Amino acid sequence: MTQYAKVFVILAAVLVLVSACKGPVESTQLIVDTDACTGCGECVEVCPYGAIEVIDGDAVIDPSLCHFCYRCVEQCPEGAIY
Ligand code: SF4
Ligand code: SF4
Repeated sequence: MTQYAKVFVILAAVLVLVSACKGPVESTQLIVDTDACTGCGECVEVCPYGAIEVIDGDAVIDPSLCHFCYRCVEQCPEGAIY
């Protein structure tokens, strides 16, 4: 194996190890449990970014507006947002 090939193999091994150490991928969108949601609208009231609407009795979060402040998660009396 040439010197360059050895360096390449070592770099590839380091890349594999680094990518393996990143841990679980963070969620990029909050989820509303529609079975638990009562449509009370409390989450809508506390969202500072207007990211939540109640549609047909269930909260719906617009991921393009959500800034992950988690106020809705803390406010929801049913624990329906996570
Ligand atoms: S606060 Fe909870 S129960 Fe009320 S509308 Fe929002 S998600 Fe549904
Ligand atoms: S996490 Fe914050 S910004 Fe996102 S929907 Fe809930 S209250 Fe709105």
